[in-house]
Amino acid sequence: MGARIQRLPQSLVLKIAAGEVIERPASAVKELVENALDAGASRIGIEIEEAGLQGIHVADNGLGMSREDVELCTERHATSKMRTPTDLFTISTMGFRGEALASIAAVSRLTVESRPAGGDEGTRLVVEGGVQRELLPVGRDVGTTIEIRGLFYNTPARRKFMRHRDTELRHVTQAVVALAAARPEVSFRLDQGGRQILDLPPGERGLRAAELLRLEAGRLLAVQREAEIGGARARVEGFLKPPGECGRARSRQYVVVRQRPIACRPLTTAVYNGYGSLLPHNGHPEFVLWLDLDPRHLDVNVHPTKREVRFSREPELRQLVQEAVRDALKVPEAQTYSYPSGEADEAAPAEETARVEGLAESHGGYVAETEPWDGTADQMRLTLLPAAPVPGAPVSADAVGRQNLGEARHSTKSWQIHDKYLLIPIRDGLLVVDQHVAHERVRFEEVQDALESEGGASQQLLVPLTVEVSPVEMEAFLQARDLFERLGFGVREFGPGSLLIDAIPPGLRHWGDGDLFHEILSDLIEELDVRPEVRDAVAASMACHTSIRAGERLSIPEMETLVRKLLNAREPFACPHGRPILIKIQLHELDRLFHRT
Ligand code: ADP
Ligand code: MG
Repeated sequence: MGARIQRLPQSLVLKIAAGEVIERPASAVKELVENALDAGASRIGIEIEEAGLQGIHVADNGLGMSREDVELCTERHATSKMRTPTDLFTISTMGFRGEALASIAAVSRLTVESRPAGGDEGTRLVVEGGVQRELLPVGRDVGTTIEIRGLFYNTPARRKFMRHRDTELRHVTQAVVALAAARPEVSFRLDQGGRQILDLPPGERGLRAAELLRLEAGRLLAVQREAEIGGARARVEGFLKPPGECGRARSRQYVVVRQRPIACRPLTTAVYNGYGSLLPHNGHPEFVLWLDLDPRHLDVNVHPTKREVRFSREPELRQLVQEAVRDALKVPEAQTYSYPSGEADEAAPAEETARVEGLAESHGGYVAETEPWDGTADQMRLTLLPAAPVPGAPVSADAVGRQNLGEARHSTKSWQIHDKYLLIPIRDGLLVVDQHVAHERVRFEEVQDALESEGGASQQLLVPLTVEVSPVEMEAFLQARDLFERLGFGVREFGPGSLLIDAIPPGLRHWGDGDLFHEILSDLIEELDVRPEVRDAVAASMACHTSIRAGERLSIPEMETLVRKLLNAREPFACPHGRPILIKIQLHELDRLFHRT
């Protein structure tokens, strides 16, 4: 009897490996740009078509490759980069594994053109689905141009995971911007179909930060601080937006370690803590920070594609970052400032008034109130609020907030406006409810309850559906499989990389061709990063995808049901992601605006 075990064909092995390195167009762009940076390029031009799915073209003026190097560069485990066992960081996170080009070549048509510095001609190599098609001399400038066409053309399952073009484009832009944050001295351009998306001139860190944070350099706050950590110097430098300029999205947060962009949640949290209550409610800090530290402080146990990095001296680093941010914002412990009250208010010394107003302005804030300090009449206390005064404020989980909810329960009427907000009158004002986040909170708790119980109703699909999932999605599914079942999903593995769905929970909204299941899985993956409990992560991703959206007109009974459920929820004040659900507009603010007081 012959052997039953057979080696997989090399082409298949490469395709499998490729899936681990190249997940989407953005990962291919990232790898190519990193290679250009490694080659010492000072100018990198990236052109993409259809978010990179049609074509990706990266040109650099780096040191180029000889004919021999070009011939080798798409072989697996072919790398010219130093590996010194002491610099584990470089190896493990920067991924000098000589795998990127081989992976890309296995799943696309790849053209490499390069001419080395000092060489007088260039070489052109074409590889299609891992097979070399062409190797010719060409005339060209020093540097390298790499073109990828038809990414995933021979892995249709993978191609199917690709999201909407806008999503893929966002990922590509994010990848380029993160690398641009790491290397301000390099110029970057990103174009799609002739339209310019980014054009970043080379410059100092401050200039790059200003471009990425979209605020003039002069208005950014500079961060700079050093500390001795575990016998070595650690240093943080960077730029922040003043609190009043901070936006509502967390997309402009860049941390760079040793010239590479990284993700490290505890450090990001340290920045939030540094801003403290200066941050507008619901606002997110925007910053670029460059960390310079001993490689021994880096934990090598990191995620190879996500760039999540851990630090061995994390508490000290967190403190360094938080203090650096506070320094930059000139925030003393509390945002209160005192001055002698002998001439308080009208007669406060002119320079003192100017100082306080200047301070307020530099925080993008204003002086909210003045009051005697600690009852001693010779000091006044000023409280700075981070943003311009508005008549409304989020209802929070304090005694007043609970009382407002109690009043709302007794309210007999509510209105929907602009197909996204609900209005409920209460004794001393008006509550405005965001219908989507309100429903998300309600659904989150309902799903949590369903997961506690024995298992809910389920709706059989007439035609079972197969959905192709990526390895990461499959892993997330397997982790949460029991919970999905309890919610009423009938899902099982159906061959490698695909799932068969034959039942879904009743009332699942927008259930189409399985896209929704992908969205739930991909949210689940993100939620698993931030929530320790799988069940909360499942609840959060299900809640998001089963709730009423902004833009949906509600019937009166639908609206009443939503309001009733919200007012009886366990945590009605914030959605599972921390956004406020209810804003209160004070009656006395309305009176003031109408000059009634
Ligand atoms: P790695 O970056 O881990 O070495 P890659 O597959 O990304 O592996 O690249 C393989 C090799 O091809 C690199 O080590 C480098 O020698 C060469 N190379 C790739 N891109 C470029 C480029 N833009 N300029 C010069 N050399 C390059
Ligand atoms: Mg590389």
